[in-house]
Amino acid sequence: MSKLVIVPTPIGNLGDISARSIDTLARCDVILCEDTRVCSKLLNHLKIDKKMLLYRDDNEEKQVQKIIDLIGDGNTVCLTSDAGTPAISDPGYRIVNACRRRKIPVESLPGACALITALAASGLPSDGFLFLGFLPSKTSARTNVFKKYSDFDYTLIFYESRHRILKFLKELQNVMGATRVICVAREMTKLHEIFHVGEAGQVYEEIVGMSTKGEYVIIVAPQRFKFSP
Ligand code: SAM
Repeated sequence: MSKLVIVPTPIGNLGDISARSIDTLARCDVILCEDTRVCSKLLNHLKIDKKMLLYRDDNEEKQVQKIIDLIGDGNTVCLTSDAGTPAISDPGYRIVNACRRRKIPVESLPGACALITALAASGLPSDGFLFLGFLPSKTSARTNVFKKYSDFDYTLIFYESRHRILKFLKELQNVMGATRVICVAREMTKLHEIFHVGEAGQVYEEIVGMSTKGEYVIIVAPQRFKFSP
């Protein structure tokens, strides 16, 4: 039966893709991807030769009808992104929504997701959490988010780029204090994977002298949580 299938891809280590995801990619008719070079690298590794269709933030709206028509014509379409689970801080939500509104079947395969990988490895409370993705770039808007959630009773999770990680950690301390317990997960599943866990002030001191190259997830424990080595 034709459908949309959400297929997570690795967040670094190419081995982190499930047997079911590989089988689904091999059997489908079309693969939606953000960047054909990134997708080709994975498909070549898996020895899969498949038609790719670009589906990115900047063409999402335009592509939706084309994709709906493809599924309507009997094709099974896989939704992927550059890394991790599509639609999580990545394009995808619009096409999933369009399928749901038309009662087109949507399958979601479980797989790699940076926020879950980081949370599980952090040792910070994971019974409840709020994922806030990327913060806005303006300092005042970022500070407002920190202020809004400083007293939140559960763990907070953010994505951040290498260009703003130090700024992020400074701003976080300014609002939540240097003793707030955090985890900075960098380059997970890759050669230079590293987890910095401790009070925000100490973590900042650990990172400030290092190269900031890489990708980051930041986990912030609720105020009540203390960390003693
Ligand atoms: N859809 C992806 C997922 O499921 O995790 C997230 C895509 S979002 C555009 C990319 C961000 O995820 C990066 O800027 C970084 O914050 C985080 N990220 C992705 N891979 C990572 C990794 N290997 N280590 C640390 N953070 C990572």
